Amino acid sequence: MKEIKTPRKPLIFYYVIAMGILILLNAFIFPDLMQPQVSEVPYSTFLSMLEKGEVSEVSRDNVQITFSDRSQTPRLFKTGIMDDPTLVDRLNAAGVRFYSPIVEPASPLASFLMTWLIPIGLFVLVGQYMSRRMSKLGGMNAMQLGKSNAKIYIESKTGVSFADVAGQEEAKEALSEVVDFLHNPQKYTEVGAVMPKGVLLIGPPGTGKTLLAKAVAGEANVPFFSISGSEFVEMFVGMGAAKVRDLFKQAGEKAPCIVFIDEIDTIGKRRESGAGFGGNDEREQTLNQLLSEMDGFDGRNGVMILAATNRPEILDPALTRPGRFDRRIPVELPDLAGREAILRVHAKKVKMTPDVDLKQVARAAAGASGADLANIINEAALRAVRNGRRTVSQEDMEESIDVVVAGYQKKERVMNDREKKIVAYHEVGHALVAALQTDSAPVHKITIIPRTSGALGFTMQVEEEERFLMSKTDIENKIATITGGRAAEELVFDSITTGAANDIEQATKLARAMVTRFGMAEEFGMVAFERQQGQYLDGGFVSNCSSETQGRIDELTVKIVREQYEKAKETLRANAQKLHRIAETLYEKETLTGEQFMSILNEAPALEGPAAV
Ligand code: ADP
Ligand code: MG
Ligand code: ZN
Repeated sequence: MKEIKTPRKPLIFYYVIAMGILILLNAFIFPDLMQPQVSEVPYSTFLSMLEKGEVSEVSRDNVQITFSDRSQTPRLFKTGIMDDPTLVDRLNAAGVRFYSPIVEPASPLASFLMTWLIPIGLFVLVGQYMSRRMSKLGGMNAMQLGKSNAKIYIESKTGVSFADVAGQEEAKEALSEVVDFLHNPQKYTEVGAVMPKGVLLIGPPGTGKTLLAKAVAGEANVPFFSISGSEFVEMFVGMGAAKVRDLFKQAGEKAPCIVFIDEIDTIGKRRESGAGFGGNDEREQTLNQLLSEMDGFDGRNGVMILAATNRPEILDPALTRPGRFDRRIPVELPDLAGREAILRVHAKKVKMTPDVDLKQVARAAAGASGADLANIINEAALRAVRNGRRTVSQEDMEESIDVVVAGYQKKERVMNDREKKIVAYHEVGHALVAALQTDSAPVHKITIIPRTSGALGFTMQVEEEERFLMSKTDIENKIATITGGRAAEELVFDSITTGAANDIEQATKLARAMVTRFGMAEEFGMVAFERQQGQYLDGGFVSNCSSETQGRIDELTVKIVREQYEKAKETLRANAQKLHRIAETLYEKETLTGEQFMSILNEAPALEGPAAV
């Protein structure tokens, strides 16, 4: 994509000026340097050359005698002055041209220039240069107060296009309509359709909002101004508003065009109601300016305003009301097909062996954003290079998912034998409970190689196909699976460890949600006791109930988790032999694939009944 910035004098310009000044100064202060080479000789040499008639011309000033010889290209010599009263006679006798130049006192103007103006001028120049540098670093620019530094992208062949954005079909369709309107406005106005003035892309981080906007720039044949909300937040009061004004002035001159404001929540935050001290006046001014500029434009002016945010709920209602950002385009986390498509886009950039199964990778990377998927491909490529291979294999991809999910493998052995055994039983506990329940996602992998994220091991389940609904039983089974790790520890070692901290947190969260959000506790029914905060960021929930209810919610949560824990323990106790056999294999191999796990599980049935553990 071609990027044009506000023209600025290049650095070389200042260097050239500085060089020029230095050269001039040199000429003034060391005039000799600018003249041909003069070699210094002793006075005696001067006299003997004079005697031999080799000297052609002599000049003398207050400090030295300069003379040239009679060779074809006269060489220049100089020597010091001696107290020599007969010199003039001897020069006369030798028939040499000699003189002493009249030294004029330097003109007062020149000396004034030399001693004052030039140093001061230099000083000012250096000062200006420094302040420019400072302003680049610090964001304040005394020379360009309030100039917007929006970048203009214009269409070019190398740019991002809609083809680079995978899986966001609805968003792409909505945006191409916008682009089409800018190209053929009459097609729409003939029917009487009015295009939305502003389009807001909303969705969790890493889903490709910025990428989509860039693709619009690549697809549209119109100028594209792009600026990030944080760039409006200025050090001086009023600067942000001035920047907004300047941005829209530029846009108005270039219409039809698209203005893209990324991360608009930084300036578009809800204004505080009720006056008071400590309000953020600066941000409010900027927002007000933005609102009033938006009112001044509409589709007929040919200026389309795009913005992106992952926190739509905190935007000021004035921004989202009809006539401002009245079209919202959700850019959600990709589904299975979307993930596969995104992997395909990024896989084009790396060499892969034919055995790589991107569908499988997409299935394993449930919940990953586009940015995560791009990262998975890149990590796999890095791993291939690290291992001295020229193509990326399926194994690279599998390991890369683990890296993105759980961090890198820790090479040095951090666990002692007993710990390793406990972790093996813990992980098999999860896997076994999952496998022995109906309708649980199949186990894809079990590993007890510690990860840099702190995980000592993990069990990965991969759904065969995407699921959009979970039944009450599904959630209960999931809680049972999560508690299966701790259950195995308790059964086998009769002691429990801190290793389950993360599991406990997850189980609690699920059980709580059953009560407060999913209406799955009979005594409450369909009542929500929690409100979600920050739809796209993990903003958590605010509770919304009386303190008595709160106490009851806690009791129910404890009850659900306890029941599932008992269920998991029961399942494991009934299958103790399998637990032992799989845990021992895992302890040896450190990693088991789903198939290996299933084949041990389905081996010849146990001879004895449920053994005591
Ligand atoms: P956002 O602005 O929504 O936080 P970005 O647009 O910055 O996310 O996405 C970050 C990177 O993730 C992109 O540069 C791209 O490599 C990758 N990515 C995200 N979504 C997609 C997608 N739908 N198709 C292809 N690549 C994507
Ligand atoms: Mg972004
Ligand atoms: Zn666990």
